Formats: sequence, C-alpha cells, structure tokens
Amino acid sequence: MTVAQHVDALRCGRLDLAGLGETMHAAMTRLYPICRSITGNGVRSTLDVLAESLDIERRSVPSGARAFDWTVADEWNVRDAYIADRQGRRVVDFQRHNLHLMSYSVPVRATMTLSELRPHLHTLPDRPDWIPYRTTYYNRDWGFCLSENQLRSMDEGPYDVVVDTTIEPGELTYGELVLPGDSTDEVMISAHVCHPSLANDNLSGITVAAQLARTLRAMGSRRYTYRFLFAPGTIGSIAWLSRNADVLPRLRHGLVLTGLGGPGALVYKRSRRGERTIDRAAAHVVGRRGGEIRGYSPYGYDERQFNAIGFDLPFGRLSRTPHGEYPEYHTSADDLSFVKPAEVAESYLAVLEIVDVLENEERYENLSPFGEPQLGKRGIYPTTGGKQATDAVMAMLWVLAYSDGETSVLDIATVADVDFAGLRAAADTLEGAGLLAPAQ
Ligand code: ZN
Repeated sequence: MTVAQHVDALRCGRLDLAGLGETMHAAMTRLYPICRSITGNGVRSTLDVLAESLDIERRSVPSGARAFDWTVADEWNVRDAYIADRQGRRVVDFQRHNLHLMSYSVPVRATMTLSELRPHLHTLPDRPDWIPYRTTYYNRDWGFCLSENQLRSMDEGPYDVVVDTTIEPGELTYGELVLPGDSTDEVMISAHVCHPSLANDNLSGITVAAQLARTLRAMGSRRYTYRFLFAPGTIGSIAWLSRNADVLPRLRHGLVLTGLGGPGALVYKRSRRGERTIDRAAAHVVGRRGGEIRGYSPYGYDERQFNAIGFDLPFGRLSRTPHGEYPEYHTSADDLSFVKPAEVAESYLAVLEIVDVLENEERYENLSPFGEPQLGKRGIYPTTGGKQATDAVMAMLWVLAYSDGETSVLDIATVADVDFAGLRAAADTLEGAGLLAPAQ
C-alpha cells in the first residue's frame, strides 16, 4: 500500500478511521499516568511504551553537557510527595495525581503550618476543582499544586511535608526513529514528551506521531526518509540539533505535532519564512478542512528552535487547540476526557494528507495539449453520473489545463481550490491513459 492509497481508504471508509481514533485514545490512556518531565524515569518509561511497537532508538545526553547556549540539567526523579495532616492522612498526594507536585521540586522534609506552606501552594481560584501544572526547571524551588477546594478544606495544621525527590547528575533522554525512503532527503516529525498527566498538551502529539510512524513503516515505498523525534520541549530539541549537524542539510520538511485534540478546529502555524513547501501543503489540507492558518511567531513549541536563524529549517506546527487558548491548558482538566477519539482521528488524517502532498507533489506535462483530449474514447470518462463522477472529471480537466511541466499538482490544487488527493488520483488516471507524463 502507498500513502496515497492509505489516505483514500481512510477518507472513503474502507479503513476504519473511528476505530483508529479509539486505538490512539487507548494509547494515550496508557501513557497518561506516567510522571514525565524534561529528564528522568518518566521520559524513559514513555519511550519504552512507544518502543513496544516501534524501533525507537533511545539517546541520552549527560547532565552538564552543552547544547549551544544551553546546559543539560541534572536529572529529576520522584519517589513520593505529599502533605499529611496530624492523623497521617495525605491531604495532597502525588500518588493520586502527579500534577500535585511542581515539576523539578527539590527534596523537602518538614513540619509546617498552613501559613508557612502557603507560599509553596499553587491553585486556580477561578477554577476551584482544577489542579494547575507548574514547573521550576531552572530555579531550585519546591511546591505543591492543588485545587482551590482542597486548599479551602485545609486548617492551619501543622502538616508533615514530604518531597522525596532526587536532582542529581544523570541524563537527558530522547527517542528517535528513522524510516528510510527512496531519497535520503528527510521529513521530520517532532513531538514533546516532557509533560506529566496532560492529555492534549503532549500525549495527543506523541500518539498521532507514533501512529503515523507505524503507518509509514508499513507502506511499500516512501519517497522521503522519515525521522521522528520524541524529545523534551526546548532543551530536548536543542540537544538534538546540537548533535545532528550532518542531518540538517537533508531536512526538507518538518512538522511539530502537539495539541491535536480538544474541540477547536485545526490550526496550522507557518514556518518563519512562511512559504515553504510544508507551509503550502499544510495550508491546503488545513484550509480545506475548515481550519485556520497562522503566521509564524517566536513563541510556542519546538518549531521555534528548528526555525531559529542558525538552522532556518522549514518547520510548521499542527495543533487544533493551541497552547494558552483553552481554559483546560496546563491544568488537570486537560485530561483523557478533554481529548476525544474523533478529534485525534481527524488530526491524524490531516497529518497523513499533508504527508500525501509531500510524497506525491509532482510536475506533469500534458501530452495532448492541443485542445481538450477526448477522455471518453480512452475509457476514463465516467459513464455513471453523480457528484463523485463530476468531481473526477473536473479534477482531470484541471490537471490537463495546467500541466505545462512547470505547474505542480499542489499549485493546481491551490489555484483551483480543489482537493490535492483528487488531483493526484486524476493525474494517475491520465498518466495511465498516456495523456500525462512527469515533467523532465
Ligand atoms: Zn505545555
């Protein structure tokens, strides 16, 4: 099977897209409880789960190593963390929800009153049931995150406060998978793996990327080599960039995947230069799905590292509910119920459609350019009517009308505002009938 056939089968229902959504949601459910951070056991456990179905190479960069302007932090791990009352009841308990502990909290063992504890407690007063997500990667501190309602139910104490963590030299870990193609030119897909129990903000991207990798691995042929990076945000991608100078010249197209669930429409964020092939491919797919196309901004996820002037790589980002634009963002409400199977399924199909464009973007030459060729005598004019037949004829007419050897299928799709996959199928038919040939 090819990517094109796979896309067509999912779109017409011969392959079960809804079932795939359920499968991806189940994969997220499996990863959800793991306490991830920018280093530590959580990232390794996450990569171990992915490695059950993909040959992920686990790479490590030692603490203290330099990566451009950054230094890899000491490794952080958690054994336990809680605030217990005088009866020993845990009123805030990391074991119940890993968001309760601020990521990178230093070890603490103390008895404290509520007043003493308060500077270390974080809540969301206007969302009294939700736990916020807080980190302190580069500033040695500690803290607990809890719901406002939990805080209101606490008396003055005193409390036993235990943060049983370690911060010591170890490693930064990331996972990488390369699927070789006909060309050594590469398409790179990246997803961050550094957030604990947050579904949309990291698990949706990880899961869609992993599903894409499984699909592409099963394809008979690939034009491009595909490289998947599962790395902690910022420091992970910068560490990867610092160690792969030889790969960078081969990177033709890149996509950061994150926030692929939630109720919003698809949002594509352009690369810094804005008109790269990945931008045109994604704008076409997302635009036709009713999504939004945005310009570049130097904030967000790892697209800002890949697009940095020193690398200037053509990386866009696909999301459906971008960071900071939904109230559940960075709270316990970004959970498995916030991300619906149908949402990740549509996101997955959109990514696959973008890949279809990259794989099948081509310039053709009309071999019968003197007037419209007679399709009927070649048996490619549908004899049954209906909208689909009309679409297929229109697609062939568009391809014939513009295939001058210079204009690509994506150019035609953009000019005509018609579906790339339909034009790609029409080009196949016309080539089979001897009316079209790839441009030299
Ligand atoms: Zn985040």
